[in-house]
Amino acid sequence: MHGGQYQVASPKLHHCHYSLTDSSFADSEDEEAEAPPPRTPLQKLTTDMCKDRKTIKELMIGRRVGFYKVRGEIGCGTFSRVKMAFHALAKDKVALKVLDKTRLDAQAQRLLSKEISSMELLQHPNVVRLYEVVETPSRLYLVLEYAGGGDLHNKICNEGKCIDNTSKIILAQILSAIKYMHDINIIHRDLKAENVLFTSSSCVKVADFGFSTRVSNRTDALDTFCGSPPYAAPELFRDESYLGPPVDVWAMGVLLFFMVTGTMPFRAETMGKLRRCIIDGAYTIPPWVAGPCQKLIRGILRPVPADRYAVDQMMGCDWLLPVEFPWSLVRQKPVSSLQSLLGSEYGELEEEEEEEIRSSLEELGFTSVHPRINRPTDSRSPVTGVYRILLHRAQKRRGCDCPPVVRGMVRDPKREGLGAYRGLRHTSKLCLLS
Ligand code: ATP
Repeated sequence: MHGGQYQVASPKLHHCHYSLTDSSFADSEDEEAEAPPPRTPLQKLTTDMCKDRKTIKELMIGRRVGFYKVRGEIGCGTFSRVKMAFHALAKDKVALKVLDKTRLDAQAQRLLSKEISSMELLQHPNVVRLYEVVETPSRLYLVLEYAGGGDLHNKICNEGKCIDNTSKIILAQILSAIKYMHDINIIHRDLKAENVLFTSSSCVKVADFGFSTRVSNRTDALDTFCGSPPYAAPELFRDESYLGPPVDVWAMGVLLFFMVTGTMPFRAETMGKLRRCIIDGAYTIPPWVAGPCQKLIRGILRPVPADRYAVDQMMGCDWLLPVEFPWSLVRQKPVSSLQSLLGSEYGELEEEEEEEIRSSLEELGFTSVHPRINRPTDSRSPVTGVYRILLHRAQKRRGCDCPPVVRGMVRDPKREGLGAYRGLRHTSKLCLLS
């Protein structure tokens, strides 16, 4: 079978079968004879997936996966290739992470299922979204939000260190994402510059949840060494077990150092020396780094986890005071389920955003029948995929993916010899989408 969960390949093309849908998805032979009403985009697409030779060929050769038209490759990882794709109905661009199931050993499969289950729970402006999972006998496709602005590692390697305000804007978004994850007991465990992506409008998207884990409590001890050694906290090398949140905080300290200096705080020719450097906390901050930023780095890169700044202390630090987020524009309440959206009458929905999603779904040809039989809460459903894409589009229209801005100045007493002043109040910063 090709093309994902959609059982479109059959010996006789006109007898093909679209497995996850009701009969209204595709035209039947009888309806064709009777001059049917104009087909909806959904009916046209699903009929093409069953009957149109070109579409079927594209599904068979991997130029289409489910409802997605696949384009060029954007990158590759240890177990995956990432391609750009478009949703054939919603038309939005997505990133398709393609995994060859035959190359995944038992451990890689466990990591992948954790990646999917963590991403299922995450909906935040600074976290890459998972829209859908499509599976074939040989491949697994994670359909992800597309972040087309490159990654932080490449940005610094190509352009050099970031200026102070840019570093603030980037760190504040990473911090907001991590605070949100920790609040729902998800630990990332692989924060590094390569996993900090940007959209084309410079909004930060934390990616790669392959090493993430869900704890029942933030004080749960973990014991698996995860992540990249230059970003690893000393307790990972030193202790039998560790707590999740301080490990992500440490990695943010390394990231911050890397952003403001263009170099890594801990460097060594061998792993043994790197380990020693990290355990000893041996790093030097260049004197030209702004005082409040130096203070933040020193608060984070402390070898004993209990002494290390917590996420809330980072959020309250002087250096990040002038960062202002526009996310008050984004609704705080969860959106109605797909089932209740499509089951409601016009005018019944409270929110403009929900009306917008419902009318887009209806224009495409979705009715309340589709979520009933297509597991709408499950990522492995094409109905979920289109719903999540439309939901995100509506949220973006309301400013959800706007990067924060830096307002005013916080003086650096070390450089200017003046008393520090706080021009901005804490209330304006780091609002979270919950
Ligand atoms: P590994 O899996 O070994 O940790 P990795 O993190 O580089 O490696 P992937 O997450 O598969 O692997 O990403 C591979 C490449 O695709 C990276 O260069 C990354 O920048 C790019 N990429 C990943 N996700 C997206 C996305 N959502 N949007 C745009 N590009 C992406």
